[in-house]
Amino acid sequence: MVDIRTKSILIIYTGGTIGMIKDSESGVLSSFDFDQILNEVPELKRFGFNLSTISFSPIIDSSNLNPDVWVKLVKLIKENYKKYDGFVILHGTDTMAYSASALSFMLENLDKPVIFTGSQLPIGTLRTDGKENLISAIEIAASEKNGQPLAPEVCIYFENKLMRGNRTTKYNSEHFNAFESPNYPNLAEAGINLKFNYGAIHYSTSKKDLVIHTQLDTRIVVLKIFPGINQETIHTIFNLKNVKAIILETYGSGNAPTEKWFLDEIDNILKKDKIILNVTQCVAGSVDMTKYETGNELLKREVISGYDITTEAAVAKLMHLLGQKFDNNTTKLMLNQSISGEITKLIS
Ligand code: ASP
Repeated sequence: MVDIRTKSILIIYTGGTIGMIKDSESGVLSSFDFDQILNEVPELKRFGFNLSTISFSPIIDSSNLNPDVWVKLVKLIKENYKKYDGFVILHGTDTMAYSASALSFMLENLDKPVIFTGSQLPIGTLRTDGKENLISAIEIAASEKNGQPLAPEVCIYFENKLMRGNRTTKYNSEHFNAFESPNYPNLAEAGINLKFNYGAIHYSTSKKDLVIHTQLDTRIVVLKIFPGINQETIHTIFNLKNVKAIILETYGSGNAPTEKWFLDEIDNILKKDKIILNVTQCVAGSVDMTKYETGNELLKREVISGYDITTEAAVAKLMHLLGQKFDNNTTKLMLNQSISGEITKLIS
């Protein structure tokens, strides 16, 4: 399955726990020179791949990440696209699902694996999950059949599971099994063998060149409704200067209060040509505004359904679409369809 003679993989280290080592005297975690990774994980040599590394300088805790990092990553991938068979991005876990979602929209016509991974324990510690994550991510990035990469998508590999990046969410801050893909099947599972779920993986049939999108517009806001949220809060957030789109995290299948003041605020803001994208607060399942009156009132007002999108992917998709400077109708139309496998429309 893997042709070890020819595979070249580029490992890009952005930061995060994986690249830390514990000082044996002080116990303090600090980052190690990632160019030395082959010394830290000597097992990698046994693959026989041509592995190259690029380390960000300075490296970042992913909680400090902003969209400039996504731009830097897609530019690096574009520059190195012809030279490598696959890419492994080492990234902190906190915002990995946002970054993987963003790259899935920013890398158009991708036909090589871009695998994000990281770890809960530093790679230099005894019980680290980082070694397995890194080794398997590299093996997946290099896996091919008849010259066709087996996972040519932006993915997250974590604790035995390969997931479509824009379907993931970090759901556990302690367990090694930190990520889930609640609304889409895993793309592969790593046991004794790597088992790819071919039916779930997107294999591009077009032979178009990779196009990168580097314009992102961050003028969005995420508003999670809760019982007791008042008009002043809604009004203030909806009317924030410069906000062009609101991700409204609603209850269950996309339901929100039907009180008059709430619906009036929705009407007013939509009249101002802003976009409201309805995303469920539930970890799994889809928005379906036809189900209850409390959802139907939003549907009538042309609130856009996010279907089963994660909030992370919704944030990245909106920044990407607003960055393209489409007119509002086009943006709404694109929100309503899958660009990169981020939604499944089970309902019309
Ligand atoms: N705060 C760290 C980060 O996201 C946590 C991690 O690496 O897992 O960069």
